[in-house]
Amino acid sequence: MKHFHSKLFTPGPVEVRPEILLAMATPQIHHRSPECADLYAELQPKLKKFLYTDQTVFLFTSSSTGAMEAAVQNTVRKKCLNLVNGAFAGRWHQITQACGLPCEALEVPWDKAIKPEQVEEKLSTGEFDAVTLVYNETSTGMLNPLPEIAEVVHRFPDVMLLVDAVSAMGGVKIEFDRLGLDVLLAGVQKAIALPPGLTICAVSDRALKRAEEVKPKTYYFSFPVMLKYHNKNQTPSTPSTAHMFALNAQLDAMFAEGLERRFARHEEMASLVQAWAKEKFDIYPEEGYWSKTLTCVVNTRGIDVAALNKTLVEEHGMRIANGYGDLKEKTFRIAHMGDLTTADIRGLLATIDMILGI
Ligand code: PLP
Repeated sequence: MKHFHSKLFTPGPVEVRPEILLAMATPQIHHRSPECADLYAELQPKLKKFLYTDQTVFLFTSSSTGAMEAAVQNTVRKKCLNLVNGAFAGRWHQITQACGLPCEALEVPWDKAIKPEQVEEKLSTGEFDAVTLVYNETSTGMLNPLPEIAEVVHRFPDVMLLVDAVSAMGGVKIEFDRLGLDVLLAGVQKAIALPPGLTICAVSDRALKRAEEVKPKTYYFSFPVMLKYHNKNQTPSTPSTAHMFALNAQLDAMFAEGLERRFARHEEMASLVQAWAKEKFDIYPEEGYWSKTLTCVVNTRGIDVAALNKTLVEEHGMRIANGYGDLKEKTFRIAHMGDLTTADIRGLLATIDMILGI
């Protein structure tokens, strides 16, 4: 197999530091051994600090989509409102339907953020007991106004707020308890900068209580089953212990950097790409809601995005992402997340300018 490494400026999977890859190569431990329980227990306070929570944080050996299924299956009793302004938000709706749960999509144009008033209007009908939101929509580079939406949802005490923070967690501060979220999930292959295969999922006490009442029709993704093992510092089934070692090392590295500094670095990288994109092209989402972890650039110059990426990969060892789905070639996406630095970003932008002669 032809294989050469390109530095990933894609919105997941992302570049993983060699130290983390080495942590994954830690000799195997048995998942029912005291060593594994110790590792699980060591991770817990770190995960709580990382998500600003005193509540429960589960680890799923699955990608984010699995935890999205878990979220709706464990919390929807009446009907779920799926807030849809992008591809992954649409996936929440597909998942909720596939699980056979009553649901309705609130569709908003993809270049527009979900507005709190729109959510309030829907919830006022009293039909719903759960809402799904994608905080950072990876298909469009949109950062939806989570704190404002959470405030509205809290006016409806029966409604659970389920948040996909897949491409935000680790790059943007998300205070789980202060925001009063019920489920907050993210696969680790984005701003947390680990290889794909593990998902972090914070669950509120009231969502755990709801799950007991709902009796989810799933075993692998059942919160009550997860909780039983979590209380013994275990997972119900064999976890990716390699990921647990890597996560432990990466959380330590994040605290060594400082979470606030990490978020500031993401802001700085975002500002660089946004300024470049505004000058040379345009930015897809409406202003005021631009993502801190990736920028979706409108291809106003009509460049051949696939050709640009081919040159980047083959001649410069860098890879960006084309637009998602129907937005392919009409947009392209530059990720500025994880352990990338402003120097990496400057290098990428200068290289694109050189290739395009702009
Ligand atoms: N949600 C968002 C915002 C994403 O960006 C992605 C993947 O890119 C997913 C969900 C699905 O994640 P996975 O493919 O890891 O299941």
